[in-house]
Amino acid sequence: MEYVDLRSDTVTKPTPAMREAMANAVVGDDVYGEDPTINRLQELAAGMMGKESGLFVASGTMGNLVGVLAHCQRGDEVIVGNKAHTFLYEAGGISVLGGVHSCQLPNQPDGSLALEDIENAIRPDDPHDPITRLICLENTHNRCGGTFQSPEYIKRVSKFAHARKLFVHLDGARIFNAAAAQQVNARELAATVDSVTFCLSKGLCAPVGSVLCGSKEYIRKALRLRKMVGGGMRQAGILAAAGIVALETMTGRLSEDHARARNLASGLREVPGLVLGQEIPATNMVFLSLDPLVKSKAEEVADNLKEHGILVGVTGARSFRLVLHYWINDIGVDQTITAFRSVLH
Ligand SMILES: *Cc1c(COP(=O)(O)O)cnc(C)c1O
Repeated sequence: MEYVDLRSDTVTKPTPAMREAMANAVVGDDVYGEDPTINRLQELAAGMMGKESGLFVASGTMGNLVGVLAHCQRGDEVIVGNKAHTFLYEAGGISVLGGVHSCQLPNQPDGSLALEDIENAIRPDDPHDPITRLICLENTHNRCGGTFQSPEYIKRVSKFAHARKLFVHLDGARIFNAAAAQQVNARELAATVDSVTFCLSKGLCAPVGSVLCGSKEYIRKALRLRKMVGGGMRQAGILAAAGIVALETMTGRLSEDHARARNLASGLREVPGLVLGQEIPATNMVFLSLDPLVKSKAEEVADNLKEHGILVGVTGARSFRLVLHYWINDIGVDQTITAFRSVLH
């Protein structure tokens, strides 16, 4: 059965153009710096982020790990949102592998960190305290509903951080969604931060990989760390080739996914038993919960939807996340609305 798979944009498979580019990729040993396709991807990515250098990494998690460790010494502290991917979903890597302490601040409903909270979290120069070193932002914000941060907000946090000799790392796993939603260039979102990661493997459809971007000197440090965590991948130009196609052809179409997310949300709003998490989806994610009158649990509803060919993400006992991406078309959106209607009738 062909499923309409809305569980995540990580389920996206490579496009035919990507498979062709992969088959024809010119490769070399990247640990020697000799893979021309990886070098091209890294230059392209750095240019799109307005940074000097880029580093191809196996995943967003690896990008955030080496990205944070390249800024921090053991015993340093990172200010991070309590709903941040880096804090919640990366196996505690920065602490486990880097000895980096985290200070978790409440993410605001829009995914931001309040400047006042950041200010209060900065440690005094006192031997009792770890040393505040880095602020991590996330854009779009996954756990906060695919919400996006504006260039102005990121600039404000960066200015604040730099005045206090702190660095800023942006987890931009979906930075191109954030850019599309605001009709700005991704470069504007990354302009003022010291480092940024983004995923090639989510809405951009590449099979594997992320890129970490920053200054030349910073990326040199990150390169050693990537080697340390086993990320020296040799002839990975086969993967980077798909990443180049992703950057060249997929970033400009993400607003289609956002439009479908809005259509899906407005269709589901009319289905009795469902409550929307957001009036209008911010980007490509739709959050839903079950009305208290519905007796079934989210797991049961998801199982029933599966029989109708629809896969959804279950995010709680009574809640769901549906993510739009390249492989979901208008027919898939309509099928999803119809399936919810018949499962909850
Ligand atoms: C997916 C994601 C990551 C990690 O990416 P992986 O490639 O799955 O390791 C990091 N941050 C955010 C916000 C994400 O959504």
